[in-house]
Amino acid sequence: GISMRNALVIGNWKMNGETAANHTLVASLVESLEVSPVGSVEVGICPPAVYLHSVGLQLEGSVVSLGAQNLSEHNAGAYTGEVSAAMLRDVGCHMVIVGHSERRSLYHEDDEQVAAKTLAALRAGLKPVLCVGETLAQRESGEALDVVARQLCAAVSGLEADEFERLVVAYEPVWAIGTGKTASPEQAQEVHAHIRTVLVRVAGVAGQNVQLLYGGSVNADNAAELFAKPDIDGGLIGGASLKANDFIAICRAA
Ligand code: PGA
Repeated sequence: GISMRNALVIGNWKMNGETAANHTLVASLVESLEVSPVGSVEVGICPPAVYLHSVGLQLEGSVVSLGAQNLSEHNAGAYTGEVSAAMLRDVGCHMVIVGHSERRSLYHEDDEQVAAKTLAALRAGLKPVLCVGETLAQRESGEALDVVARQLCAAVSGLEADEFERLVVAYEPVWAIGTGKTASPEQAQEVHAHIRTVLVRVAGVAGQNVQLLYGGSVNADNAAELFAKPDIDGGLIGGASLKANDFIAICRAA
């Protein structure tokens, strides 16, 4: 990435983990980053909601930030099973993943709900990590850039200028998530450059400073060449974030 934006690497644990294993993983991450710091690279981890509080306590005083994987677009009230942005802040979250493709496809989140969640996160002082990305069919029919631009515009067109300062966008092609099939650095850069163009069109100069992450089968071997691209500021890491050594290696590649 370009030096005016800090690199950012976020681990998305998805629905994985349990208390003892979480403790071991987090202890390894924190110790490794303490012994050998990653400088200006920002690092975050997003455990399942039930573990946010305990992982957050373990991260206190470390350079690793806490994030959640999802939030409700509502403030409070009769929404059984949901977690609000304010609750995430209350347990120490700094960021929250919004509109991950698994939420869009398995839980039918649409662009309108993703926009509402993005706003709810921002208004509560969280960094939304807004996920966008095309399916394989959409890529093969030449629609990738349009799909991504549409998802992006739907989520950010209602934002105030200063809110772009806390926005993070993650490009995650659906066909690359959990498949071991990563986008080539050139494919990813093409979409990132398009996202950057759209952001600058919507937000002006603030769009230049939005951190853009690539996600989808990033591992210790392919991270460096992806992160070397000018508009790829870091990664959103699924499977490889569950192994301390792999995740650390990816952070060091950023
Ligand atoms: P993956 O997941 O790294 O396991 O492909 C990325 C994501 O879904 O955020």
